[in-house]
This record gives sequence, structure tokens and C-alpha cells, in this order.
Amino acid sequence: MNLNDSIQNITVAIIGAGFAGLRAAQRFEQLGINYMIFEGSDRVGGRVFPFSYQSGYLQYGAEYVNGEDNEIYEIVKKNNLLSATEIDEEGYETVVYGQEVNNKMYKIWDKFESSTNEKLERDGARKEVKNQSVSERIDFYFSDFMKAQKLSQSEQTVMQNMNKLFKNQYQLEWSAPSTDLCLRNFDTWDSGVDSEATLNEIGFKSILDELASKVPKTKIGMSSKVVNVDYTGTKVKIMLSNGQYFLFDSVIITASLGYLKKHKTTLFTPALSVSKSAAIDRFGFGNNMKIFLEYNDPWWPNGMSTIQISGRVGNTETSNSLEDDLMVFQPFLWARKILVAWVAGNGPLEASKLTDSQLMTVLDNHLDTNLKNVYIVSKIQRIHRHSWISDEFALGSYSYISNKSCQSNTDDIKLMRDPILTNRRPVICFAGEHTDSEMFQTVVGAARSGLREADRIANYYSLL
Ligand SMILES: Cc1cc2nc3c(=O)[nH]c(=O)nc-3n(C[C@H](O)[C@H](O)[C@H](O)COP(=O)(O)OP(=O)(O)OC[C@H]3O[C@@H](n4cnc5c(N)ncnc54)[C@H](O)[C@@H]3O)c2cc1C
Repeated sequence: MNLNDSIQNITVAIIGAGFAGLRAAQRFEQLGINYMIFEGSDRVGGRVFPFSYQSGYLQYGAEYVNGEDNEIYEIVKKNNLLSATEIDEEGYETVVYGQEVNNKMYKIWDKFESSTNEKLERDGARKEVKNQSVSERIDFYFSDFMKAQKLSQSEQTVMQNMNKLFKNQYQLEWSAPSTDLCLRNFDTWDSGVDSEATLNEIGFKSILDELASKVPKTKIGMSSKVVNVDYTGTKVKIMLSNGQYFLFDSVIITASLGYLKKHKTTLFTPALSVSKSAAIDRFGFGNNMKIFLEYNDPWWPNGMSTIQISGRVGNTETSNSLEDDLMVFQPFLWARKILVAWVAGNGPLEASKLTDSQLMTVLDNHLDTNLKNVYIVSKIQRIHRHSWISDEFALGSYSYISNKSCQSNTDDIKLMRDPILTNRRPVICFAGEHTDSEMFQTVVGAARSGLREADRIANYYSLL
């Protein structure tokens, strides 16, 4: 579309067509408020990124829906998106230094893991410890637990590796190094229910289509990267990377926290307040990714839910090597020939430096060397991945409360969310998953934040 054609009537600019931006736009449609979305990339959805595979869609980004009392779950129910089958949590295989972990070790480990999960949840609310990191606290419980066990040297090694995998699970789920994941996350984050919904093969494609269908395509300027938001005058001036600029009464920014961390000094004129800027710096932003490994046929047994590898064998020359972060592999529920590698830590950055064929070689060698005593591993045919850490509009995966944020004793989510007001008019509003107090990290939080900021603006103009 030609942005100039419709510019005369526009009053609100929304930066970003992810779930926050689309939900804000949907609200403006409902209320008859003029708006325009500027989306830097060439697609809508942001960190929701379905791609077509066989009869359905695999998800580079969001895949599960947290909570049930929210609009996203409403769409899940309305469009029949719940998966008919669930992952069998029992179907675990753990391999340490190339050897299968035996039942005796599993039994001992399970006792530790389930009691520690509960303790960590509680610790999140305990004043004395809530500012500690998950890693610190797990190690504390682990050393206590080990003192009470009578294990051989090799059994102790297995347990230490199980502990490493345990911390990695937190890294994967929370998209945060376990050393920087503050216990307070467990007390602050709340979806209202314990579980998360697994969706069927259409899943997030349908949710995204539903949200996008409420927003006319003519109201989205695609490939329109905003490089500066100038709020010195009565109108806010939005400058695009191609030099075009547009004037608005108010703006909603939905760029990821990763984007704000990197660009906040050049994105805003005048600069953001010291307190908002410091909150953006302090709050955590992780960098998880999934790599979908496609095989001719599955080589893993039926019913297998997860393969975990630790204490790897093979090339151990470099520290920080990609292989160290290739720990968790999961068969896909409906795509039989796909194994998903869930990668956290330094892995996403290291993987982003490799071509597909280099990455396939690393993965093939890694799986073959570590699993050869347990399975006959075949060769990967293709991989599918999106590198969130090098995606210029994401620069990572999702947010978390970091140690620094915990220790600062400030409400950083609120500081990031607070609008910039001029004579009480909300001139610059901040939405996006990182601005939702209870469901940061999630699509639910993102959509909620878009609605919240649209209503803030609507309230101001007394249109509600
Ligand atoms: C690997 C991975 C797995 C995940 N799994 C889940 C999950 O299972 N469940 C869940 O709930 N959540 C999950 N998430 C998180 C979820 O995807 C995000 O919380 C949510 O999509 C964020 O939406 P948003 O609108 O806040 O931001 P985004 O989706 O990032 O949208 C922001 C938009 O702004 C655009 N933009 C940025 N800068 C500019 C600019 N300067 N000019 C113009 N446009 C710009 C971007 O291109 C983007 O489209 C996952 C994320 C990742 C990466």
C-alpha cells in the first residue's frame, strides 16, 4: 500500500505487527480509531512464526498456550486447536557419557527433581532467597541431597550430569541462563493454571490468521522499519529507514525487549528517562531456538518423548562449543520424521554462525557419537530453523526477571510499561510481552499488553 494515501486521517501509530500490535489494532478497529501499523519485516506475527510442513505447520516461535482464562485460549477452543494426544512425560531417555542412565539412578534422581521443583516454586516467594538464581538454589539443594546418598564415583558423575540437564530444562523453559534466572520469576509469573496447552498441527497458524483477519491489510505498512520516534513537538514524528516520515497523536511501541536494548538510544528523541532506560537494560532477554531435524524415517522408538544428552563424548576441544548446548531432542507429536533440538545457552549464537550443511554435520556427529551405544542413528536429510538471536527485529527469544532486575528492588516491568505523557496525553505507549506483569514471555501477555495500551489511548480520547 501507499502510506501517503491514508495518512491524513491517522492518529495512532503502532510499531510492530506481532501479537501485541495486532491486538491493539483490532481494538482500534472496534472503536473506530484511526491507526497505522508499521512492520519492519515482510510478515506479520513477529515471534509467532508458523511454517508449512506436510499437513500442518511447525512453529519456529511460540507453540504452547499458557493459561485458560484468556483470549488466546478462547481462540484455541473456538477453532478446535487442542492436540488430541499429549507428550508422554514418562518416555524419557537420558544418556550420560554415551551410556544410558539406568533405573536405579532414575529413581534416585526423580525423588530429587520432584521435591526440588516444589521447593523452588516456594522459594520464589521467600524473602530470604527470592533474589537468588535458580542455578544457585538448585546447587544448594543438590549438594545437600548428595551428602545423604551413598553412591560410587561413576554414579555421582551421572547425578551431576542429571543436575546439569535439570538446570538446562529451566533454561529452555524460561529462556534464561539458569545462573541469571532469578527465583522471583516463579512468584511473579502467573497464568492461573499449572499446565500449558499443546496444540494440533494447525495450532498457531490459525491463531495468527484469526488475529490478522481483524486488521485490514491496507492498515499495515510492511517492510516499514521505524528508526526514530521524535516526540519533541505536538505531534509524534515517526521516521522510517527509507527517510519517509509521518505524524501521529500517539504511538504504541511493541518492539521486542531485545530490540529496545540495542536501539533505545537512537530510537527515541528525546532520550527515554533514566529510570525506563535502566529497567530496559536490567530486565533479562533470552535467546532460545528450535532446530527441526528432518529424517527419512524415525530412528527413535515409538513412545519416546525426550532424549537428553549430557557429559558428551566426542570433540571436547573448545569450551562454549555448540555441542555442549545440544542436550534436548524431542520427537514431534504429529510430524513423525521430525526430531526437534531445543537449544539454549550459547547454542543459538554458535548455530547462527553455521550454514545449514555445517550445522547438519555437527548434529549428525553429535547424535551418532553420543547415542551409538543406545540407537542406530540415521542421517539428517534437512533442517528447518529460524535464528531469533540474529533476527534484526527480535534479537533474542523472550524476557525474564534477571538477577540485576531482582536485586534493584524496582518494578522493572512497570517502568518499561509506563507511558510517556505530555499534558496527560499518552504520547508514547509501550506494549509487548515484556510489559505484562504476570504473563511476560508469552503470546497471552503480548496480546493483553496491546489491548491495554489501545485502551489507554482510547480512554484518554474519551472514546470508550
Ligand atoms: C523460540 C520461541 C519459542 C516460544 N514459545 C512460546 C510458547 O510456546 N508460548 C508462548 O506463549 N510464547 C512463546 N514464545 C514467546 C512469544 O512468541 C512472544 O512472547 C510473543 O510472540 C511476543 O509478541 P510481541 O507482540 O510482544 O512481540 P513480537 O512478536 O516480537 O512483535 C514485535 C513486532 O515488531 C516488529 N518490529 C520490531 N522493531 C521494529 C521497528 N523498528 N520498526 C517496525 N517494526 C518493528 C517486529 O518485526 C515484530 O513483528 C516463544 C518465543 C520464541 C522465540
